Amino acid sequence: HMVTVRYADGKGWYEPRVEARAPIPMDPASAVLHYAQEIFEGLKAYTLPDGGVAMFRPDANAARFAQSAQRMAMPQLPVETFLQSLHELIRIDRSWLPTSDEGSLYLRPFAYASEVFLGVRPSMEYLYLVIASPVGPYFSGGVKPVSVWVTPDYTRAAPGGTGAAKCGGNYAAGLSAQAEAIENGCDQVVYLDAVERKYIDELGGMNVFFVLDDGSLVTPPLTGTILPGITRDSVIKLAGRAGRKVEERPVSLAEWQEGAKSGRIREAFACGTAAVITPIGQVKSAGDEFVVADGGTGDVTAELRKQLVDIQRGRAEDPFGWVHRVL
Ligand code: PMP
Repeated sequence: HMVTVRYADGKGWYEPRVEARAPIPMDPASAVLHYAQEIFEGLKAYTLPDGGVAMFRPDANAARFAQSAQRMAMPQLPVETFLQSLHELIRIDRSWLPTSDEGSLYLRPFAYASEVFLGVRPSMEYLYLVIASPVGPYFSGGVKPVSVWVTPDYTRAAPGGTGAAKCGGNYAAGLSAQAEAIENGCDQVVYLDAVERKYIDELGGMNVFFVLDDGSLVTPPLTGTILPGITRDSVIKLAGRAGRKVEERPVSLAEWQEGAKSGRIREAFACGTAAVITPIGQVKSAGDEFVVADGGTGDVTAELRKQLVDIQRGRAEDPFGWVHRVL
């Protein structure tokens, strides 16, 4: 199925519907097709040990959706409408939920400019939709480290740009960089900051953490050019609660490379909704190449991953009230 809600200036959000998933008719002059005024979110629903169904921190996705809307000059969808649309789709598509321990139903809420108009200004009409798709475990047969390519050619976002918003245009602009990573035999691209081209920003679809030799964590700060990941925020809170020091500060590629060689940086991991927490194995750049995790998963990475997955799956206490039961 799919959920749709329409918006028009002067009228607000109207006509909420849950219907069979079907193509959406579009005029060739629909604003989104030309100027990419579009935002989205991604989160998972999954089965709990008692047979119930939950989502992980959907309120955080709602808040980020609202921030993305603001940056993209789009109207605010009420938080209740956002949450209710997810509930309804899960309820009606419940049979799509994998019952396995690791599978989930991926939910994709999004909104786009639907006005038929070729001028360049914010649209006066929008369509909000939610679709869902069952996904298996991200890693079948155990967690595998990702290999990453530090792109020398492309930046993801500049100060004042849309880096902190989850808008389709950011991903369109990143496709050449992702293709470059694949050509170089890597799974994911790593972006450096746009100003000095020196500091690690994030991966194509994940945030990044470094584990130092004293067991503390370091992650790049939210300066407006990286996506404020919900997994990133969860890792910071979980590690802090466990008494681990977490620093949000810039980390240069040189610091990473030297740290990996000297042992000052013991582990590095990427995090996001899809893979939760995954070790970074090999790092390649145009100049050099180095290895962080040699095939395996570091202790701290494994510990954080287990803590987070156990909370998500209802196998451990939920100290922050993150697990949002739907059914
Ligand atoms: N950065 C980018 C560019 C992403 O696309 C994602 C995935 N949404 C993330 C980071 C991780 O965010 P989250 O933990 O909210 O999935």
